[in-house]
Amino acid sequence: MAKVIFDVDRCKGCGLCTTACPKKIVLMAKDKINVKGYHPATVDEMDKCIGCAFCATICPDAVITVEK
Ligand code: SF4
Ligand code: SF4
Repeated sequence: MAKVIFDVDRCKGCGLCTTACPKKIVLMAKDKINVKGYHPATVDEMDKCIGCAFCATICPDAVITVEK
């Protein structure tokens, strides 16, 4: 199973990664706030991740790492 890791405190909450995911599992964590004051991106249903790394590729701040 693929695993998506977020460097949470680098996220600027732009939401680009949520638009890139073909499985629609990347979400903004509305219940969390990072050190920059943004709701950071997260994945809730990690079991649905196919490891395509589209989310990591589109992130302008290199917040996301995908492990297979
Ligand atoms: S690796 Fe692909 S399927 Fe997994 S969260 Fe990122 S964009 Fe979605
Ligand atoms: S694309 Fe990067 S900076 Fe933008 S919300 Fe996603 S993880 Fe955060």
